[in-house]
Amino acid sequence: SQIDISQDLKTLGLKEINHGTSTGNQWMENDVDPISSHSPVDGALIGKVGVTTPEQYEQTVQAAQKAFKEWRTTPAPKRGEIVRQFGEKLREKKEALGKLVSYEMGKSYQEGLGEVQEMIDICDFAVGLSRQLHGLTMHSERPNHRMYEQYHPLGVVGIISAFNFPVAVWAWNTALAWVCGDVCIWKPSEKTPLCGVACQNIIAEVLAENNLPEGISCLINGDYKIGELMTQDGRVPLVSATGSIRMGKIVAETVGKRLGKSLLELGGNNAIIITESADLEMCIPAMVFGAVGTCGQRCTSTRRLIIHESLYDKVKNQLVNAYKQLRIGNPLDEKNHVGPLIDQDSVNTYLAALEKVKASGGNVIVEGGVFEGEGYESGCYVKPAIAEADNSWEIVQHETFAPILYIMKYKTLDEAIEIQNGVVQGLSSAIMTNNMREMELFLSTQGSDCGIANVNIGTSGAEIGGAFGGEKETGGGRESGSDAWKVYMRRQTNTINYGNDLPLAQGIKFDL
Ligand code: NAD
Repeated sequence: SQIDISQDLKTLGLKEINHGTSTGNQWMENDVDPISSHSPVDGALIGKVGVTTPEQYEQTVQAAQKAFKEWRTTPAPKRGEIVRQFGEKLREKKEALGKLVSYEMGKSYQEGLGEVQEMIDICDFAVGLSRQLHGLTMHSERPNHRMYEQYHPLGVVGIISAFNFPVAVWAWNTALAWVCGDVCIWKPSEKTPLCGVACQNIIAEVLAENNLPEGISCLINGDYKIGELMTQDGRVPLVSATGSIRMGKIVAETVGKRLGKSLLELGGNNAIIITESADLEMCIPAMVFGAVGTCGQRCTSTRRLIIHESLYDKVKNQLVNAYKQLRIGNPLDEKNHVGPLIDQDSVNTYLAALEKVKASGGNVIVEGGVFEGEGYESGCYVKPAIAEADNSWEIVQHETFAPILYIMKYKTLDEAIEIQNGVVQGLSSAIMTNNMREMELFLSTQGSDCGIANVNIGTSGAEIGGAFGGEKETGGGRESGSDAWKVYMRRQTNTINYGNDLPLAQGIKFDL
């Protein structure tokens, strides 16, 4: 049956052809060929989005710089009030935006709604944070002196995001950056540009209703070349970039060359350790959702299972049976568990990875393949696959952004932890155990080396309250909860002398 989301597109202010560059309520047009956004769900053209020109980028940065002068003097709780109103608008548009996320990106409607809920949650978090941008006070070593630190906004924050979380990653960054007093320029993925325009339309309404200047929330569109305009630009003190390790290395180098700050959220290669004492009833849904949810296109997707040898065969059989129950198809149909991959390139990468697994000597226990025929016209629907593999193989070391799960055996927990940590990525990890010693070892200094380490839940599906991010080639950045806000601000240490003498620190004498 034909999928019709025209009403949702209308609710989100989307047209057939949309401008791609905005400083808030003002949109810029040009003659450059727009990006066509096709849905991986049914292959249909959803709409087009304009590509930003270098001149338009220049205008955007200037508007942002101008807005920053006003925004930084707006009291933080008042900035929080704007973010509160933004959260309210997101609540009103949750269904429409969730559906667009599902249709443009291909994740299930439930996950699309979940993504918008994350945006709402981070807005709530940011509102509270707007009254808690605390610094410390220190006791000075000098008499009649006082020391304290305060956090000031940085300026223009550049946000580069990936296709797989086309709206939430922007909100994680922007809701915090705004309450911190920064202004933002967002370059969404060229694979999900309509999600970007839809979000910009929502915040633009809030900015207009509050008579705020153009430039607080800016949108630019295009491929990596447009992203590079920001990474090379000394007027953008912080670039927050989410995407592949390949991209992150280039961004880090470019921003590093000008000694700017970058916040990197890159690829993962996440594993679950299934111990002897694991509750298998809980393991199966955790493993399967982690591996096939979002068609294996989450940075936290479960890619490796490290299973104790005593229950290896049992878990393997249960997994094979669970995979037989999976329904793959239109993600807007809530009966289906798994939607499509994002595009044809991604399907080719998936197929090439399966070939490589076989060539490396892998034993494929659940075969992959591409679906054809009715309901699969986009050519992007693939079968989630499972292979027995060795952790050291190049293909296993690499993140393939598709539903391919590698399973392997272990004898001792030390060995399992070594396997889990034996990859270049360090994003998410989990252990399934009812043994307190195993749990504590996994979470100790000798345990998981990842930014996220879970017990008795899977690797994916983080909450916004914690700091999100990973170590090693995942990039080291942290976003969202805890004290992740500090990266969006500059810290200043202040020393005040309220006496009549000028004693020097460390007791240094300097007599004139
Ligand atoms: P990608 O690296 O292809 O693109 C991500 C973004 O970077 C896009 O907007 C792209 O235009 C831009 N970009 C690419 N090269 C650039 C350059 N040289 N300069 C500036 N910008 C550039 O990634 P993708 O395929 O969209 O997303 C999938 C990847 O993202 C996976 O590796 C996944 O693990 C990762 N990811 C990580 C997190 C996290 O929080 N750690 C979250 C989501 C996705």
